[in-house]
Amino acid sequence: MSYQGKAITLSALENGIYELCFDLQGESVNKFNALTLNEFGDVVEQLQATADAKGLIVTSGKGLFIAGADITEFAVMFAGSEDDLKAGNLKINSIFNAFEDLPFPTVCAINGIALGGGLEMALACDYRVMSASAKVGLPEVKLGINPGFGGTVRLPRVIGADNAIEWVCTGSEYRADRALKDGAVDAVVAHESVREAALDLLADVLAGDFDYVAKRQEKLEPLKLNDIERMMVFTSAKGVVIPQAGKFPAPKLALKSMERSANLDRAGALDVEADFFVQLAKSEISSALIQLFLNNQVVDKVAKGFVGDSKSVEQAAVLGAGIMGGGIAYQSAVKGTPVLMKDINEAGIKLGLDEAKNLLAKRVNRGRMKAEKMADVLNAIRPTLNYEDFGGVDVVVEAVVENEKVKKAVLAECETHLAEDAVLTSNTSTISITRLAEDLKRPENFCGMHFFNPVHAMPLVEVIRGEKSSEETIARTVAFALKMGKTPIVVNDCPGFFVNRVLFPYFAGFNILVAQGADFHKVDKVMENFGWPMGPAYLLDVVGIDTADHAGSVMANAFPDRLKFDLDQQSAVDVMYQAKRFGQKNDKGFYAYELDRRGRSKKVVCEEANALVKSVGGFTAEFSDEEIIARTMVPMVNEVMRCMDEGIVASAAEADMALIMGIGFPMFRGGALKYVDAMGAKAFVEMADKYAHLGALYQPTDSLRNMAANGETFYQ
Ligand code: NAD
Repeated sequence: MSYQGKAITLSALENGIYELCFDLQGESVNKFNALTLNEFGDVVEQLQATADAKGLIVTSGKGLFIAGADITEFAVMFAGSEDDLKAGNLKINSIFNAFEDLPFPTVCAINGIALGGGLEMALACDYRVMSASAKVGLPEVKLGINPGFGGTVRLPRVIGADNAIEWVCTGSEYRADRALKDGAVDAVVAHESVREAALDLLADVLAGDFDYVAKRQEKLEPLKLNDIERMMVFTSAKGVVIPQAGKFPAPKLALKSMERSANLDRAGALDVEADFFVQLAKSEISSALIQLFLNNQVVDKVAKGFVGDSKSVEQAAVLGAGIMGGGIAYQSAVKGTPVLMKDINEAGIKLGLDEAKNLLAKRVNRGRMKAEKMADVLNAIRPTLNYEDFGGVDVVVEAVVENEKVKKAVLAECETHLAEDAVLTSNTSTISITRLAEDLKRPENFCGMHFFNPVHAMPLVEVIRGEKSSEETIARTVAFALKMGKTPIVVNDCPGFFVNRVLFPYFAGFNILVAQGADFHKVDKVMENFGWPMGPAYLLDVVGIDTADHAGSVMANAFPDRLKFDLDQQSAVDVMYQAKRFGQKNDKGFYAYELDRRGRSKKVVCEEANALVKSVGGFTAEFSDEEIIARTMVPMVNEVMRCMDEGIVASAAEADMALIMGIGFPMFRGGALKYVDAMGAKAFVEMADKYAHLGALYQPTDSLRNMAANGETFYQ
């Protein structure tokens, strides 16, 4: 008997041994999409009816084993009723059960990555042999769901509850040595021998060396824990999982699922898993996290599309060795592109090099880099005070002071030292890219390359297309950002580009709230509960009050209808600026910053700052949490919509990803537009209209009103 499907083949080897091979046609990876699941059901039926079968190995025809379920099918799959979703899930599980119950031993050859459904497939086999270079894990909680093909049932029964709780609730990927140590696999062998080793193991089982029936039986029964042991395991796990999970419900519910199913047999335990799976799959958070995963793929694909076959970047340069220039040089060198770092004085160069040294030393201390590699990276940063050697540079990033005149002069001077086809970029935060190109001889070779601070930690790079930037310039800049390990998003030129353009209306909403009497401590707390890593006052301190003041005035001049205010008093940012409270950089802003016992900067409430802010709005008014959220989020979302309408950003996916990666928009909300989808455009417009009296900042765009009227969404 044999089976030749589009995702699975079944072939007879010799002596009653069969091989089930996953090899999804037309795709680079195996995944459990509807087609594969259907074929899996057919193959299991055939295997049940194969009288001569004595044993089976499960293999993959790809470089990996199985990447997991097909996430692109989730939205449609999860759209049905809860009952349908549960019934569908149990039907799939009945196939996995039937496979597990086949009347002969099964051995899985894990040749490469086996995640989610891929590992669940392997767990349904009696034995697992793993390639030394493969990785396994159940990453479902990262998508806001729990494993749904028996992962929370079989894994604890195979590796013990303690280990399984860690595997499931962190969603981590595990290397072969750890998988073997925990007992998730039975053998680890060299990559090229996995299939052979699986066949050998199967032969040993058939020779009676191992008792597969007893091993299988353990997966069908409750966990081997008495009541006290069970209570201890799950109580101590809650102490770790719950605080770590924070606002993400999936790890907590996956733990609950394992606890509830601990003393049930396979059928009972799978029923519990299905209930939790449905509950999570229908949640707003899983919808946002799944969209985020898909958006990430969109952004990746778009970036690769830009790069095409553009010339690779082999030598880079930065102008200005300050906070940003130093960070950019470090990032370039650490990812393998040598970089010239030019400044106008030795002191500047020293600062830039010190920054790179500190970052590298931290890596070495944490065991994430060998000391020799540190020396290589440092050698790849070549400090200079002149333009010698700029003739061999492929891409330059200008990061000198934020002053249009200085930047124009520096860019024009640098251009004369570059090869004809070299790309010149600016890391300006606010100055128009089109304007900066005015004095250049080759404006087509120029675009914006906007990094976020700290460069090594922030994944986003906005690549800004000026009026004259050529596609080749954009392509090379995107390629460089990718080579630096960053996520580039291409946007069109406008004041603030995309990210700062939508951030400043949010700060404006905050300033109005404070001017009208809100206590900024409360605003911060509410917005942190909403999911921001820091509230607006704290964020302003981190950005730098001087930077925010400067950028804020640029933005206000550009968009006076919504960002210039006739407040009776100055804004909170104004008074902080005048008092030279510049935020974290000089240890005082809305908060004061002190070193804690471990020498790390810690924010503390500061009476002096409070008195200053009180002089603005007096902390005299009480605003509900709901109102605080609306008054800050509406301006931001409205500006995102304006950017969409004006084509500043090309798609909802790119807009939402830029916000999450650039300014820490709450990840579990999926971005500003996914946030609108979750509440519905109609509800959002109604919320905005409540604050119409506050002016244009709160005025939704016509496009959003139309979406509200037509019941449309940004995502499927
Ligand atoms: P910085 O003041 O730390 O560094 C500027 C450096 O440029 C200094 O070392 C200075 O000596 C050097 N410099 C000045 N004139 C020069 C010249 N003619 N040639 C070579 N070097 C020269 O400033 P920064 O915070 O690193 O900002 C640099 C740029 O990056 C600015 O345009 C800023 O708006 C932008 N930016 C900053 C941030 C941030 O958070 N700091 C974030 C994104 C973008």
